Amino acid sequence: MKRVGILGSTGSIGTQTLEVVRGNSDLKVVALAAGSNVDLMEKQIREFRPVLCVMWEEAAARDLKERVSDLSVKVLSGMDGLVSMAVLAKMEVLVTAVVGMIGIRPTIAAIEAGKTIALANKETLVTAGHLIMPMAARSGIPILPVDSEHSAIFQSMNGEIKSRADKILLTASGGPFRGRKKEELGDITVEDALKHPNWSMGRKITVDSATLVNKGLEVIEARWLFGMKPEKIQVIVHPQSIIHSMVEYEDGAVMAQLGVPDMKLPIQYALFYPDRRPMEGERIDFYSLGSLTFERPDTETFRGLRLAYDALGAGGSMPTVFNAANEKAVKLFLERKIRFLEIYDLIQGAMENHKVVSYPSVEEILEAEAGTYEYIDTLYR
Ligand code: NDP
Ligand code: MG
Repeated sequence: MKRVGILGSTGSIGTQTLEVVRGNSDLKVVALAAGSNVDLMEKQIREFRPVLCVMWEEAAARDLKERVSDLSVKVLSGMDGLVSMAVLAKMEVLVTAVVGMIGIRPTIAAIEAGKTIALANKETLVTAGHLIMPMAARSGIPILPVDSEHSAIFQSMNGEIKSRADKILLTASGGPFRGRKKEELGDITVEDALKHPNWSMGRKITVDSATLVNKGLEVIEARWLFGMKPEKIQVIVHPQSIIHSMVEYEDGAVMAQLGVPDMKLPIQYALFYPDRRPMEGERIDFYSLGSLTFERPDTETFRGLRLAYDALGAGGSMPTVFNAANEKAVKLFLERKIRFLEIYDLIQGAMENHKVVSYPSVEEILEAEAGTYEYIDTLYR
């Protein structure tokens, strides 16, 4: 029996993780955490019977506690609650499926407590990868990627001598606006940006996919997960999302992982690695697929990717500023306070305004985040 905790259980990755649990009787959910969605959390508790549940918002935790008072589940709130969950003695694997930098502290606490991490929460590695990866290596804790591209890279390295990997070929669907030019993106609405061609995901990452900021975050995530230099990570637009990413080796051989787009596969793979469990679902039919196509990303129009490489080049606290400015800008866009292309202007402005702190501590990362929020707030007051 493998005992699992899910940080962000009510979201897109969280609910798909629970579907994987439903399909495997030797997985047991021992802890769940979410922000404020009490209705869904109550349902999840009644179905999966965890011993601990955390709601970020205190009022939500109070409400939930009352609703599940007939059960023995413990209910906590806030960052203290998330950290208590991360170190829960009964838990072996923590699936980090929250959105944003809120995942940093619980992830670090879980590593220190010896838990295996199934990592979906890319913002944590983007901002604190320089702390988290060495910490995990020292403790011998596996960080198993859930992000589909990183899972594909991980799978393409199975059985290989990692130092012989020469290049990561990170695929990107190109998002809903692929092929359009800047002049055609001025009037993009929130509804347009929330329509992803191949994947159904949370709102923030869906907008990030439309701006290509998501691919930028994934380049930084790959840099930390696989210790690859930025110039050795190449983004390739592949609109069919069938090849989930590839690794090129020193002899020129390219290994790839292919599959129908479905996040349950990388989630299940991370939960059972190195085993491959059976999984129901559609299979690739190469006869009807016909062709797979590839393009160079248009980084003039979709500046998010270029800004991510700039942030990685500047290093230290700059990826945090890139990420925090994007989080804030996406929020403003979803609130219809800024236009689609202004997301890039805000990220660039925040990066230009920031003085890099090299090798930042968690406190310095959080300071860089707060400074970025403040900078953007002063523009939109
Ligand atoms: P969602 O927005 O769908 O879900 C976010 C989850 O986090 C919800 O359960 C939410 O709870 C919870 N949450 C939000 N804030 C807090 C908080 N302060 N404390 C505790 N829980 C909180 O996001 P996704 O599932 O799409 O994405 C999660 C992560 O996975 C992101 O980092 C994303 O980049 C990454 N990812 C997602 C993919 C996908 O297919 N969705 C693919 C690859 C990576 P509530 O519902 O109560 O608000
Ligand atoms: Mg991805």
